[in-house]
Amino acid sequence: MSEVLTATKKDAMFTNEDVEKMMHRFHYSEGTKEIIRNENLLPLGVLHRIHLTYPQHSGLKETGEFYFNDKNQYIGIKGFREIAKILSSHGIEIGHLEERELFIRVYRFMATKHVLNTINWADFKNDSKFQLVFPQPGMIRADITKAYLNAGSEEEREKIVKDYLHETNPHDGKQQLNKPTFINEDGEIEVVEGSQHKYPPVKLIFDMQTQNCFSFCNYCFRHAQVRHDEDMFIQKEIKQVHDYLREHKEVTDILITGGDAGYIKAKRYEEYITPIIEDPGLSHIRTVRLGTRVLTYHPELIITPEYNDMLKLFKRLYDNGIQPLLMSHFSTPRELLNISTIAAIRRLKAHGVTLKSQSPIMNHISLFQDKNGKVDVDRSAQNWIDLGNILAMLGLGFHSMYLARPTGEFHYFNQPVSEINKVFNKIYRSLASINRPSRYITQTSSAGKISLLGTVELKGEKYFALKFNEGRNMEWMDKVYLTHYDEVEKTIANLRPYEGDKHFFDDELIEIENKLHESIQTGRKK
Ligand code: SF4
Repeated sequence: MSEVLTATKKDAMFTNEDVEKMMHRFHYSEGTKEIIRNENLLPLGVLHRIHLTYPQHSGLKETGEFYFNDKNQYIGIKGFREIAKILSSHGIEIGHLEERELFIRVYRFMATKHVLNTINWADFKNDSKFQLVFPQPGMIRADITKAYLNAGSEEEREKIVKDYLHETNPHDGKQQLNKPTFINEDGEIEVVEGSQHKYPPVKLIFDMQTQNCFSFCNYCFRHAQVRHDEDMFIQKEIKQVHDYLREHKEVTDILITGGDAGYIKAKRYEEYITPIIEDPGLSHIRTVRLGTRVLTYHPELIITPEYNDMLKLFKRLYDNGIQPLLMSHFSTPRELLNISTIAAIRRLKAHGVTLKSQSPIMNHISLFQDKNGKVDVDRSAQNWIDLGNILAMLGLGFHSMYLARPTGEFHYFNQPVSEINKVFNKIYRSLASINRPSRYITQTSSAGKISLLGTVELKGEKYFALKFNEGRNMEWMDKVYLTHYDEVEKTIANLRPYEGDKHFFDDELIEIENKLHESIQTGRKK
């Protein structure tokens, strides 16, 4: 027994020479290699422990040559075809090319070389990153797909794509109503077009520099931003944000998001944070968050010398009592277990950045079915239990898990609330309390973020117990409420009220929505 253990341990050992070889495999520049060595970003102890504990997820011992070396991003149908060709030249056929292209024409496609090179192409169908980034058969409704594949001409295909595009639902939850308004210096109502302020403590900013992503996730909930639809949110003027914040002392956190906030340049970020640090009228801001998938898709950015300016700004915030926070979106262990992501995490942490992760639980990526098409509770839960433990080992907080909102190809990614409840229960009880998600699983609707607490039996009947985690009226958070148990419904907001035909907040929600609508219309007329 001990011999086996010793052999396993020996096999997993890493040496400095191994690290040099790994850095060479990732084609790091000399500047990046120097940073990694000087800042101790890949200590052997970390690599040993993670690989020994999670060999089934680890890419650390992979030595194969990378297939994607000539550019940083592969974009659109052209990029997709280039990828298929490169794979084909290595004997890998992903198949279903036309069907995958239909998805790309309706939504979009982009993949970084990092994400492509860290997919295990020997078993790509089961690789979570492949499922996350590549369009899959069955995503677009069967009738649309059939019509597209059978179309006789390019004009016909074009029409099918255009018609279907109008059917897709980029915004749910009445997001346009989240645009804040305020009385400006001239006493007029002004709409902050590139922001959302739905819950009192947090203001979201869709900055003009962050309207792109590094790679696109198949399930993106921000199609309007990603496709650059007419109704996208876009914040051009930074002063307007500060003016609004001076009037809103209830805001403690700003969240720069997108697209991907990892795109923000140091100069523009500095324009956001300098008044927050220096102006006493903004001393109520405690945290500056960046919502980004850079650690999954392009972690190499953070370990370049060019990123030093951003790191200085994070440190400046931290040294002024303001929390710089990077909210990442990990949903599978595989996203973390490569040297670029590990080194980037350690570099950010060394510069005072708090790191957390929140992500949706999605079919085929982080939620699995058995051969009979039923949710495989054990396998799905294990993905998240391993993820929670790896996040802890690297010092990231497991902020939250959520059910996706009904946007995009919702049917493909979601499962009934009742099944998700079983998976989440197992995750929650299997992790140590400090490594669990910081709240029960939620789903967002216009009313707010609603947590699914579990089930309860009353007089022989089963019900779901729910609680607001955030609400358009924050006082709604104080109540636990019930809905009928349902084995089919995938959207929490559609669950049938416990009594009558309304939830306790429904009437007030309509009132609030009407007022917000009126205020935005008045602001736009000025
Ligand atoms: S990173 Fe966010 S905005 Fe970009 S594609 Fe993924 S889900 Fe959409």
